[in-house]
Amino acid sequence: MPEFELIRTHFAHLGAARSDVVLGVGDDCALLAVPAGQELAVSIDTLVAGVHFFPDVDPEALGHKSLAVGLSDLAAMGAEPAWATLALTLPAEDGRWLRAFAAGFAALAREQGMALIGGDTTRGPLSLSVQVHGLIPAGRAIRRAGARVGDLVCVSGTLGDAGLALRDLLAGREVAAGPRARLERPTPRVALGLALRGLATAMIDISDGLVADLGHILEESGAAARGERSGESASPGYRRGASSAADAALGAEIRLAVLPLSPAVRERLAQDPDWSLPLASGDDYELCFTLPPERASALPPLADRLGLALTPIGRILPTAGLVCIGPAGDRWTPQRGGYNHFADAG
Ligand code: ADP
Ligand code: MG
Repeated sequence: MPEFELIRTHFAHLGAARSDVVLGVGDDCALLAVPAGQELAVSIDTLVAGVHFFPDVDPEALGHKSLAVGLSDLAAMGAEPAWATLALTLPAEDGRWLRAFAAGFAALAREQGMALIGGDTTRGPLSLSVQVHGLIPAGRAIRRAGARVGDLVCVSGTLGDAGLALRDLLAGREVAAGPRARLERPTPRVALGLALRGLATAMIDISDGLVADLGHILEESGAAARGERSGESASPGYRRGASSAADAALGAEIRLAVLPLSPAVRERLAQDPDWSLPLASGDDYELCFTLPPERASALPPLADRLGLALTPIGRILPTAGLVCIGPAGDRWTPQRGGYNHFADAG
C-alpha cells in the first residue's frame, strides 16, 4: 500500500467518534465545535528518535507514549481530552511500523474518548509531534500558580520507575517488566486531574523529575502570590523578570521516608542510596499537586475510587528552596535536576 494511502487508512478515523468534530482528517483544516462555557486547553510535545526514545523501540508502545505525554499535560490542568493532531516525520516507508504505531495511538485515544482530527506527514529523521486539545469549564483549570504556604504537596502513583528502566537500558542491564512499562507505556492520570478540579490549588505533571517540576510550582506560585500582594495582575499570563522569580519563589519540605516507591525502586535504593532516582529522573508522568490540609480527607476515597496511590509527601513553606528530610532526619537541598535540552548549547 502506498504511504499516503496507509495514512488515510490508519489515521483518517482514528480514536473515538465525537459529535463535536464537524470535519476531521481530509480537508485543509479540521472543524471543531467548542462547547459554550468551555475553555480549550492546548499543548504540543515532540518526540525525536535518539533523544526521547530508542529508534528501535516497539512502534506500538511509541504510538501509545506519543499521545500519553500530551494527555499527561491535559491531566495536569484538569482538562478533559477531546482532540489530537499528529505531525509525523518518517525516514522510510514501513507499513508494518506505521500500522503498529497507529494501533498504539488509537487504543489510547479510544480509551480516553479522543479523536485524531488531522496532522502532517513528511519525510526525514524519525520524529513525532502530537498536539492535544482538551476542554475545561471556563475558569476552572488548575495552574502551576496557586499553591499557598501550608498546603500539602502530594503525588500520585510511584516515582522513579521510568528512571530506573532508563538507567538499566543505558547500562545494558536487564530491565524489569514493571519499570519498562512505566518508561515505554506511561499511564496519563487524566481521571485524577479531572477529580482534582476544585480541590487542588496547583498542579503539574512530573515529566522532568519531582525536584524540577515541583520547582515550577514553587516559582509560579511565589510569583503569583507576590503579584497579588503588590497589586499586579498575577494571572492570566506571562511574567517578565526571570531574575526576580527565584527570590519570589515559595519553598517546600519533602519527607523522603514517605515518598511512594515501587518495590523495584525501593530495592535499587537499598543497593545504592541515590535519591536522584525517585527525585530527579523524568518520564514518570505522575501528577504533583498541592492541597490545603483541611481538604486532605478527600484523598483516601479518591485514591480508592481511582485505584491509584495519592500520597502527601510534604508541605509548602514561605521561604524559597526545596528541603529534603532524609529517613534519618538529615536535611539537604537537592540540585535542581531535570533534563534541559539546551543546557549545554552555547
Ligand atoms: P495540506 O497539504 O493541505 O496540509 P496534507 O496532504 O498535509 O494537506 O494533509 C491532508 C489531510 O490529511 C489533512 O486533513 C491533514 O490534517 C491529514 N493528515 C496528514 N497527515 C496526517 C497524519 N499523520 N495524521 C493524521 N492526519 C493527517
Ligand atoms: Mg500539510
